Formats: sequence, C-alpha cells, structure tokens
Amino acid sequence: MIYQRSSQLFAEAEKVIPGGVNSPVRAFKGVGGTPLFAKSAKGAYLYDEDDNRLIDYINSWGPMILGHAYQPVVDAVIEKAKKGTSFGMPTELETKIAEMAIAMVPNIDKIRFVNSGTEACMSAIRLARGFTNKDKIIKFSGCYHGHSDSFLIAAGSGLSTFGVPNSPGVTQGTAKDTLLAQYNDIDNVKALFEANPNEIAAVIIEPVAGNMGCVPPKEGFLQALREVCSNHNALLIFDEVMTGFRLAKGGAQELYNINADIVCFGKVIGGGLPVGAFAAREEIMNFLAPLGPVYQAGTLSGNPLAMVAGYAMLQALNADLEIYDRLEAKTAYLHKGIDEVLKANDIVFTINRVGSMISVHFDAVPVVDFQTAKNGDNETFKKFFHGLLQEGVYIAPSAYETWFITDALTYEDLDFTIKAVDKVAKSL
Ligand SMILES: *Cc1c(COP(=O)(O)O)cnc(C)c1O
Repeated sequence: MIYQRSSQLFAEAEKVIPGGVNSPVRAFKGVGGTPLFAKSAKGAYLYDEDDNRLIDYINSWGPMILGHAYQPVVDAVIEKAKKGTSFGMPTELETKIAEMAIAMVPNIDKIRFVNSGTEACMSAIRLARGFTNKDKIIKFSGCYHGHSDSFLIAAGSGLSTFGVPNSPGVTQGTAKDTLLAQYNDIDNVKALFEANPNEIAAVIIEPVAGNMGCVPPKEGFLQALREVCSNHNALLIFDEVMTGFRLAKGGAQELYNINADIVCFGKVIGGGLPVGAFAAREEIMNFLAPLGPVYQAGTLSGNPLAMVAGYAMLQALNADLEIYDRLEAKTAYLHKGIDEVLKANDIVFTINRVGSMISVHFDAVPVVDFQTAKNGDNETFKKFFHGLLQEGVYIAPSAYETWFITDALTYEDLDFTIKAVDKVAKSL
C-alpha cells in the first residue's frame, strides 16, 4: 500500500496544527509511522487520500454503528442545512430527540444536549456536586471521561488517596478532589469512601470500559458499586458515551439491569455530528439552570444539524428490532475467527468482548483493569496494527482502544479480516 499523499498532507498539517492532528490518538504515536488522511467513507469502508480502501474498525471511534455515510442521516442533514444551521432559539426537534432518547433509555426523565462527550461528563460532575453539596469524585484508572481537568488525574503514590494531575495545566487544587480507584475492585472503592466520609459527591465509571481496550465489569461489580453509592448518598454516574445506544437500546443500564443516577452520552447519539448529552431523573435534572442553581450552557447546543443527525440515528436503531442481535452475532463471529487463527499461530493473547466492543491484548493474563491492560506486549501490537493496515484492515492505532463493529460489515468483510489476521500472525 502506498501512503504518499497522506504523508505529504501530514507534513503540511504539522506546520499549522500541533502534531498535525486535532485529537492526539490520530497521530499514530502509539504505533509509529504517519497517519492516513481520510478522503471519504461509505458503509464499512474508509478511503484514504491515496485511494486505498480500508475495512474500518474504528468508525469515528464509535458513532458509525450503522456504517459510514448512513443514508437516512446524510439525507436528514442535507435537508436541514438548507433551512438554517443554528438559531440560538429552541426548536421542536430538540424535544423530539429528547423524547426518543428518554423512551429508549431506562430510568431517565430529562436530558440535556451538549456538543461532546467531554462536555457531557464535565457537566454531569458539576451537577452531581451541586446536587449533593459535596466536592470529591471517584474515577477509575484507565477510564476516560473526556479531557476536562477533573478527569486528567493519575493515581497518587503510596498511601495517598489523592489523585495527582497527569497533564500540566491541571492544578493540584483540582486534582485533590478526584480520587482514583482500580476498575473491578469494589474493596478499593469502599476504602476510599471510608477514608473520605461525607465528602464524595459521585462515582463516575464506564460501565464497560472501552478506553483501555475493552474491559468488562466483573460479575456483581456494578451492582456492588450501586449499593456503595446509595449507602453513602453519592451519585452513580454511568459514562455511556461509548456504550450508550451501542450495547443495547438502553445501553449498559439495560444490559446489566442497573440504574445509574446520571448517564452521559456522546458518539452514537450524534450520528457522526458533534453531540453529547447527560440525563437523569427529574429531581436531579431540575437542579440545572434555568430551573435550578447549577449553571450549564452552550451557544451551539442542540443545533438543528446535530439534532437531526442524532434523531435519524436513534430512529433507525429504535425501529430495527434485530440490530443489537446482529451486531452481537457479527462480533462473536469475528471473535471466534480471530481466536482460532491466533491460537493456530501460537500467539500469546487475550480477547475481551462485550456486544460489539472487542479488543485483542497480547498477553496471556486476563485483562481486568488498567494495570493488566498495561501488561500487553506493545511491540507485538505495533506489528499487528501495521500488518493489518497493509492488508487493508484499519484498527485503532493504539493498544488501549476497543474495536467498534458496525452493522455495515458483511460476513465476507469479517472473513477477509480473519484471513488478514492469520497472515499477520505468521509474521509476529
Ligand atoms: C469518547 C469518550 C468521551 C469523550 O467524548 P468526546 O466527544 O471525545 O469529548 C468520554 N467518555 C467516554 C467513555 C468516551 O469513550
């Protein structure tokens, strides 16, 4: 495969955009080499600027659950654009998409739309603090909730229960209010509650982690977390930016039959346009301005293009009674196929999967948290990534990302992918 034009475009981009990209993981730092530049995409395929065709397992990091350039979304956006792209006034469409989301997701009465998953999580935390009148939050190592200050925190050393900033620009003052716990370790969470009595406003979690590869919650872990939060009058926040409308119509809340207090959305809910949202029961949502004291706003929030794209996407998912079974079946097929060929080639690996989220880790030990995710052999992952790319299969350029399966993938595409994995495995 030739990447000549992509390489040129990257060199030009680097002069005017830091690192040549507007979001760091796109830069291929985790795998080496220079990123491909996208030219267009349709269905399961991505076409780069050198006209290479790639089977896409990133799908814009999740939103394209029905494939790229999904016709009902594209048509809706084109029609809407002709009528004006933003008004700074409420529109009927915002109520319609809100009603639809509330009908699909369990346990929410009201929802507010924002422009990204980052904004959704940032606002959810503010709301939880305002509602509980407490300052501290617990997050889990390896979970990603966007790039707002409260979440860019690493575990403190030794006996300290405080987090420390893991990016310059995040203040110690902010870091001291974020406590870090290990994913799947309920005793760790309980210990943090005991060490910080009456100070913890909320626990935020990816109910299925997708930002350290795919890491499923252990049996009973989310239930236990629900109980601990209720016992301590802390809110449980499910960050369903990745899992929402992907694992089930009602996301992880439905899949695991657990009610969170606040739920955050992004990715699929925008159908590929910049949308995030957060939702909760009425009592909590009424704490937001203009009804309540917690401030939150947005000039372009709920703009008609984003809303019509999201609405078309949710309508399609809501109307298709078999969509989640199909996604599950396709991903299970891929899982089995990759498992077989990696075994046949004596590769040391672990595959994690929940529904249409799947990740391959080059380590024999089960991956259950950030620590075990970090054990994976990154050199093998790099070769795996570049090998698959040569074969025309595009997975995320980082060992810490899940693959996103789309319904546009055919079984021929999956067979092609499994063959490519077999070929690459022979060279690992
Ligand atoms: C992608 C992601 C975010 C951040 O969303 P952006 O739209 O990139 O700001 C937050 N939480 C989770 C779980 C995500 O996967």
